[in-house]
Amino acid sequence: MKISEIAVIGAGTMGNGITQVFAMADFKVLMIDVKKEFLESGLDNIRKSLDRMQKKSLITLEKSEAVIANIRTSLSLSDAKNTQLVVEAVIEDESAKKNVFQQLDKLCPPETILTSNTSSISITRLASFTSRPDLVAGMHFMNPVPVMKLVEVIRGLATSDETIQIIKDICRKLDKTPVEVNDSAGFVSNRILMPMINEAIYTLMEGVATKEAIDDVMKLGMNHPVGPLALADLIGLDVCLFILNVLHQDLGDPKYRPCPLLKKMVAAGYLGRKTGRGFYEYKK
Ligand code: NAD
Repeated sequence: MKISEIAVIGAGTMGNGITQVFAMADFKVLMIDVKKEFLESGLDNIRKSLDRMQKKSLITLEKSEAVIANIRTSLSLSDAKNTQLVVEAVIEDESAKKNVFQQLDKLCPPETILTSNTSSISITRLASFTSRPDLVAGMHFMNPVPVMKLVEVIRGLATSDETIQIIKDICRKLDKTPVEVNDSAGFVSNRILMPMINEAIYTLMEGVATKEAIDDVMKLGMNHPVGPLALADLIGLDVCLFILNVLHQDLGDPKYRPCPLLKKMVAAGYLGRKTGRGFYEYKK
């Protein structure tokens, strides 16, 4: 199947990055969100990212213009009906994703591949909301999408070999490295990353060290490029909480219980970089 046009559902932190990398690889991309200001802010992020790349001489002005020309935006999910591949990147909430998958299944031709950028939700369950579970898989990009090489490709119980092969080939066209994993809450990346972030938040809550000291220990001592608290701010504290709740519920082990300080910060609206305040403060 020739894949020429892709729909990305959600223009947030991940959706706009995913849109950008497809457009940079010369695919036509339709970015869909529910409000005009979300689409504008997504496009704004893409423009800023392209500007940074241009300043570093990584791309030319012509390339940057061509990337923008490859992107269309829409407020209507029904505009995804002519695409051959969909990447869903809406909030990490199963009922929101179920709704999107059910609608996409009705709208898109039977051969369209439906993928999710979910961080933790079962691909097998998302596939069960459609009539094409063999054509459903996880395409888990890392944040920031234009920079990070990995795409965790998640095989649901019914995902076909052909679907996995097509997705891996596309990842390579995006200059990414696909790594295939089986479907399980949090897959590999967040099964390992989120308990570490959660423990860092417990360490802060219990006054074991300051936020800066916790991040410095992990950066200087473990060679992590970013400390766990700064990384949580980058990911979004709401996203971290969603993922920990899925790990806790699906795997049933109390070791995944979200730290009370994380819950409190999300309740206060301190969601990290995207709101200007998380464990650290950021200029908007
Ligand atoms: P976000 O909150 O920044 O963006 C979500 C966007 O989806 C919002 O703009 C929202 O308006 C839009 N949306 C919600 N419902 C919609 C619908 N029905 N149709 C169209 N748009 C809709 O979230 P994010 O951080 O970009 O996360 C998106 C997904 O990517 C989640 O599943 C998350 O777990 C996953 N993910 C996040 C990260 C990260 O670091 N933030 C990394 C990997 C994967």
